[in-house]
Amino acid sequence: MHTMQLTQSKQAKIIIVGAGAAGLFCASLLGQRGFAVTVIDNGKKVGRKILMSGGGKCNFTNLYVEANNYLSQNPHFCKSALKRFNQWDFIQLINHYRIAYHEKDHGQLFCDDSAQAIVDMLIAECEKGNVTFRMQTTLDDISQTAVGFALTLSHGKAALPETISCDKVIIATGGLSMPALGMTAIGYKIAEKFHLPIVPVRAGLVPFTLHKPLLDQLATLAGIAVKAEVSLPNISFKENLLFTHRGLSGPAILQLSSYWQPGQAITINLLPEVDLASLLAQNRNQHLKNCLAQILPKRLIDCLSELGMIPDRLVKQLNHKQQHDLDIALTQWSITPNGTEGYRTAEVTLGGVSTHALSSKTMMAKNVANLYFIGEVVDVSGWLGGYNFQWAWSSAFACATEIAD
Ligand SMILES: Cc1cc2nc3c(=O)[nH]c(=O)nc-3n(C[C@H](O)[C@H](O)[C@H](O)COP(=O)(O)OP(=O)(O)OC[C@H]3O[C@@H](n4cnc5c(N)ncnc54)[C@H](O)[C@@H]3O)c2cc1C
Repeated sequence: MHTMQLTQSKQAKIIIVGAGAAGLFCASLLGQRGFAVTVIDNGKKVGRKILMSGGGKCNFTNLYVEANNYLSQNPHFCKSALKRFNQWDFIQLINHYRIAYHEKDHGQLFCDDSAQAIVDMLIAECEKGNVTFRMQTTLDDISQTAVGFALTLSHGKAALPETISCDKVIIATGGLSMPALGMTAIGYKIAEKFHLPIVPVRAGLVPFTLHKPLLDQLATLAGIAVKAEVSLPNISFKENLLFTHRGLSGPAILQLSSYWQPGQAITINLLPEVDLASLLAQNRNQHLKNCLAQILPKRLIDCLSELGMIPDRLVKQLNHKQQHDLDIALTQWSITPNGTEGYRTAEVTLGGVSTHALSSKTMMAKNVANLYFIGEVVDVSGWLGGYNFQWAWSSAFACATEIAD
């Protein structure tokens, strides 16, 4: 009896929507466990975001993954999945395929050569599991039937829509960032249709835009990067800050953007590793600008002088108050961004299908049996640094293992 049940479940027909990181990995695991898996994706090629990730080298995980590297309405939700399939498990797979990689800052692991190696690995894993792919196929709707689900698919304007059925559906349609890649809101629409709550979505890991006149005043700085500590009341990041034609970017800013609320001011410390008082004491006879040029780019110093943040005098001519004001100007520079560049350049979509509606062990909707959500479509968003791919692998693994076991 037990064997028969197992055989029946092994024949379950599973459709995974989305051939991104989460969908591909989940498909490979389920296929290799004997399930009939079909992956549907609206693009021509699988793993398109993987290919463009990490500057083409895919920052596929991070050595120091922890739950507090993720934003979610329920910060505990990701713990179980991250524990069951962690960064070391994925690194083991990478090693198995002899993909060469290296560590950049902060435990970030990148391919030595190309992100294509990760996509090739996932395709090879899917081939081992006889996974079927239906590319250039868009999911438009899902409804429940007496025995499972009916999916309405379309194939461009010319072809007629099609309906296919399955026993289990796994939604791995990602977020809304990079709309040029054909990202859709279908994952959220399906969730809403089945009465799963949605945490409002917005762009994360995204550059800030600035208001005029500050934008014009900082225009000469476009392209300059400095090490900085950028803060909001409850969080700060010490990494590079990049001035751009539109505003502020660089890893420090991208990280902070995920925590930023419109209208909030951010604080920039341009001297995160410098003791200004000692620097000034050691260079009393220099002009202040020359003294600061030892630690900051000249163009930045000129610009800050024009903004009145750096007085035009010798270091020894600074009185106590002026030295104090300079310290505040350089370590607590307060800027209120105009907004963000939005989904066009965002690396991630914050919010998504509420974790309260999903099982953290299986990723299945609590109120709809056999409907699963994995990857970025869920309200779990990682920091910059490989955390989002690790969530894709871990949530895919949780879902696949639970179905298979
Ligand atoms: C430029 C860029 C660089 C990044 N770099 C990194 C990095 O180095 N490290 C890191 O950890 N994270 C990085 N990220 C984030 C990471 O790429 C995502 O978090 C991750 O790809 C999410 O995986 P996913 O499988 O959930 O969704 P996705 O990879 O977005 O895949 C979803 C798939 O579903 C398809 N789809 C959507 N709607 C439909 C529909 N209606 N019908 C059919 N198919 C549909 C999409 O076309 C897509 O192929 C980067 C993101 C961007 C934009």
